[in-house]
Amino acid sequence: MQLRPEQILNDHQLRRTAVRLAVLRIFLEADEALSQSYLEQQFEQVDRITLYRTLRTFEQKGVIHRALDGTDTPKYALCAGECNEHAHHDHHAHFHCDDCGRTYCLEEMVAPRFHAPRGFRVDEAHMVLTGVCKECLEGVSP
Ligand SMILES: [Zn+2]
Ligand SMILES: [Zn+2]
Ligand SMILES: [Zn+2]
Repeated sequence: MQLRPEQILNDHQLRRTAVRLAVLRIFLEADEALSQSYLEQQFEQVDRITLYRTLRTFEQKGVIHRALDGTDTPKYALCAGECNEHAHHDHHAHFHCDDCGRTYCLEEMVAPRFHAPRGFRVDEAHMVLTGVCKECLEGVSP
């Protein structure tokens, strides 16, 4: 993705703040989903509440989505572009590496359309794949 942080904030009608810009920069550089504690570590000093609110706002506005990976730690990744404050369209699978614990978006793997049994309403469907990631298989230490 070639987007600039300023552009992303504009596209989602979000005011520019130092923390928002910094968080977006970190997401743009990452090729994996990030947890709040990982983000915290990237700052010399950041208010945890501010960071938490930033992530929540980004999620609500369609900037980032929750990359569910079957673990208890929520991780987030940038949305592909067509998400907004009304709806997310991140129907791709996520991959969780059992070796290094990283979580990746598999953008090209789109979840099939599920048919709920009569009387049920499906709001979300998540596809999680687990195994060993490319980095670990190639022996590159994370
Ligand atoms: Zn999204
Ligand atoms: Zn790995
Ligand atoms: Zn994703």
